[in-house]
Amino acid sequence: VSATPDAGVRLIPDDLRERYRELLTRWVALPSVAAEGRAQEATAAAVADELRTLGLDVEIHATEGAPVVFAERRVPGAPTVLFYNHYDVQPADPLELWTSDPFTLDERDGKLFGRGATDDKGQLASRVIALAWLARRHGGELPIGVVFVVEGEEEVGSPHMASYVAAHRERLRADACVWEFGGVDAHDRPHLVCGLKGIVSVDLAVRTAAYDQHSGLGPVVQNAVWLMAAAVASLRDADGRVRIDGFYDRVRPATEAEARYLAAAPREDDVIGEQIGVDRFLGGATGTEWHRRAQLEPVVNVNGLHGGYGGPGMKTVLPATAMAKLDIRLVPDQDPLEVFGLLRAHLDRHGFGAVEATLAERPEHPSRVDPDHPWVRHAADALEEVYGTPAVITISSGGSGPMAPFVDELGLPVVMLGVGHAQGRAHAPDENVRWIDVERGTLATVRTIERWAGLTPPA
Ligand SMILES: [Zn+2]
Repeated sequence: VSATPDAGVRLIPDDLRERYRELLTRWVALPSVAAEGRAQEATAAAVADELRTLGLDVEIHATEGAPVVFAERRVPGAPTVLFYNHYDVQPADPLELWTSDPFTLDERDGKLFGRGATDDKGQLASRVIALAWLARRHGGELPIGVVFVVEGEEEVGSPHMASYVAAHRERLRADACVWEFGGVDAHDRPHLVCGLKGIVSVDLAVRTAAYDQHSGLGPVVQNAVWLMAAAVASLRDADGRVRIDGFYDRVRPATEAEARYLAAAPREDDVIGEQIGVDRFLGGATGTEWHRRAQLEPVVNVNGLHGGYGGPGMKTVLPATAMAKLDIRLVPDQDPLEVFGLLRAHLDRHGFGAVEATLAERPEHPSRVDPDHPWVRHAADALEEVYGTPAVITISSGGSGPMAPFVDELGLPVVMLGVGHAQGRAHAPDENVRWIDVERGTLATVRTIERWAGLTPPA
């Protein structure tokens, strides 16, 4: 495990560092938990106020869900960067596992703790500071065009983002995009992520009798839990290979550039295995094969399997119902609804016709950007300059998000850079951001834009 990096690094001007702290303090205090629909308007308004201080024209756009904060400023003759971020957060539970109150920013050991400290308020605050700094470095006004799309439903699957992008294509015109997160890996190396997987969330349910039966009828009455366990088990083999017919048909082979960056990626399975307490990964994968699987392989996950009795003592029952929750992570060019159809066909063909499958959330398409795109190369050069070590290029995150509309409909190259770190505990108790990452990640954002836009930094 890597040593703690030098916490004494100071790159950001003092007043802007203080503004970061003050900004994050205010935003973390707003409990904008998307799953609970809390504090949406207030948080959107707080974000809007901050973006106005950058000289942007800000509008709050209603959607069928939480409002989107839209901001723009065009500069004639200069390129435009679009920032996608979100102001909503995950629920804070379980509260007892937090060292300090999740909605009161707390500073300890060179870190700032609070819900949203990294995902995504800490990242968004870094973008704001980076732009204020950029303006200061170039005569007081922003030297490039800027567009912000800050949504409030990312943590519940961004159900309205694809339609929002489709409805605002013209306003979202830009030349490049900075995605909501980024940072350093488990070895404290800066990384650049070029893609996200798609996702299909599925609920499976089965009923085998009108009500639970005495288990003495076990020899003759089907048991819903057995049936559901068999249905779930049929979906993959012991090494994780998916057994749904046609599942891999549209998986795009790695390009020459993708294969090159995959092979160049330093080993990470050792540190991650140690951190998460896993001795052997699926299929025995290590090194490059571990990266290939994690980044380029689609997967069927079972998130939960429920049914019957699990309490103390005995209860001799034949459960009449059982359910399971799946998430299916997709890679280009798999199509979410087509894959959902393949799952249905698989269940029918293998004797699980009684198992109902329904979409639990609106699916998201997978998406990737060419790692050799100039925007990605400028970001990689800026990271190497700021961190003093080459950026690790990640072809795709294992996670998902509403990136496809921005890449595939707006045609934007996307990079993911920012102030996160491997132990930032996004979505978990004691979520945090480290000052050292705020310093370096914010400067790297400034330098990426300067390099890309051909702006000479002040001496
Ligand atoms: Zn996020």
